[in-house]
Amino acid sequence: MDQRSGNSVGRRLFHRLMGWETGWWNDLKEGGRMSDMFSKKSLAVGVDIGGTHIKLGLINEQGEVIDHYSVNLLRDETKIADIALISQEVANFIEKRNVRNQLAGVGVACPGILDTTLGVVKFAVNLGWNELPLVEMMQERLKLPVRLECDATAGAIGEWRYGAGMDQSGFLYVCLGTGVGASLVVDHHIYHGDLGPAINIGHTSVIPDGKPCKCGNRGCLEKYVSASAITDRVRMELDTANTILSKWVQSRALDSLLVYEAAQQGDLYSKEVFQEAGELLGVSLVNCLQLFGVGNIIIGGGFSQSGDLLLEATRKTVRARFPSDDVMKVNIKQASFPTTAGMLGAAANIFQ
Ligand SMILES: [Zn+2]
Repeated sequence: MDQRSGNSVGRRLFHRLMGWETGWWNDLKEGGRMSDMFSKKSLAVGVDIGGTHIKLGLINEQGEVIDHYSVNLLRDETKIADIALISQEVANFIEKRNVRNQLAGVGVACPGILDTTLGVVKFAVNLGWNELPLVEMMQERLKLPVRLECDATAGAIGEWRYGAGMDQSGFLYVCLGTGVGASLVVDHHIYHGDLGPAINIGHTSVIPDGKPCKCGNRGCLEKYVSASAITDRVRMELDTANTILSKWVQSRALDSLLVYEAAQQGDLYSKEVFQEAGELLGVSLVNCLQLFGVGNIIIGGGFSQSGDLLLEATRKTVRARFPSDDVMKVNIKQASFPTTAGMLGAAANIFQ
């Protein structure tokens, strides 16, 4: 469950003053390169805006990541992400690599409720954004085409074009990260709902009277099956549970990776935490199988790197609960790009 970041992981300064007064910006002001914006180019920048940080990648049409890194761009106190800082970070990324002339555009993957046609983030609670015209704002700053996509859908596109979903006509993609997102490919098309987020299984209830969720529902899947859910659960139970974590947290920060390490070392409590989360994911996937009948399921997101520790219980639950002879055809597998599929898919959108 490493938080994969690129060769600039330690670089948390924003280089705010670079790039804006010289180079391409002056060229653009002089009208030099605007005509190049929509011509055929071989590279794209993929930007994946997450709940705690953003990832940027320079990606070619074959899905090869030429360079990438991640950076925290959230204001810690308010948890509000700043679109100007994100744009500036993208601009610096482009300028440092001197690739502007080869860029077809910038693809952005973002959580929340979006209008991807208008390029507007209608509501992203974790980012503090409301009715934010992201595409317009970024295009104005970057002077490049920008395309917005829902983060889970971008992840599905990334796996579809370059990874575990290649050559498949249909699959369900589930992204286990800070929360839980999902997207559905049916008959070679991404399924888009009419009412906003589709296949939003993170906010479907798996326990009727379960934990209250900020969405207004109770017992939502992502309150139990996500990196933050695991951490929250263990934190609440630490005083009474019989676990090696009680000792470990005296010298290390409690997070899902620590629980994973404890489970790997045979800590029964930690194993049980993952197993129970895996079972609830299985309950949710059975509901999806009943609704959509898509047997190929790809599990991505950083939390999916817990692998069989989580997914063994998921597969067992699906086999036990899905009342069909076809249950043996259900294929639940890990994503090829657990932490970079969103970035890849966002960039792939630019090449379409
Ligand atoms: Zn919810």
